[in-house]
Amino acid sequence: MRIIVHNAKCQGHARCWAQAPDIFKLDDNGYILPGDIQVAEGEQLLASQGARSCPERALEVDRTSAARFEPAAMQPRTGEA
Ligand code: SF4
Repeated sequence: MRIIVHNAKCQGHARCWAQAPDIFKLDDNGYILPGDIQVAEGEQLLASQGARSCPERALEVDRTSAARFEPAAMQPRTGEA
């Protein structure tokens, strides 16, 4: 799972940080740091709660990132004897 951060929407309420300070990092002015956040398996509930607590909808939960995995090793090999 991944949290997509929409920095332009952040208004510095720090509600995400209040829910999960280990997941949501803020700058010195209380605004979320740029960059998507990869969430570890055991922190997904906390991360979802933090994202939902944002009144500006600056935090988007992306649960599809794992489903996009396409193993290259599964491709059929050609030209082998
Ligand atoms: S992402 Fe939302 S809750 Fe977190 S600091 Fe920004 S506005 Fe506040």
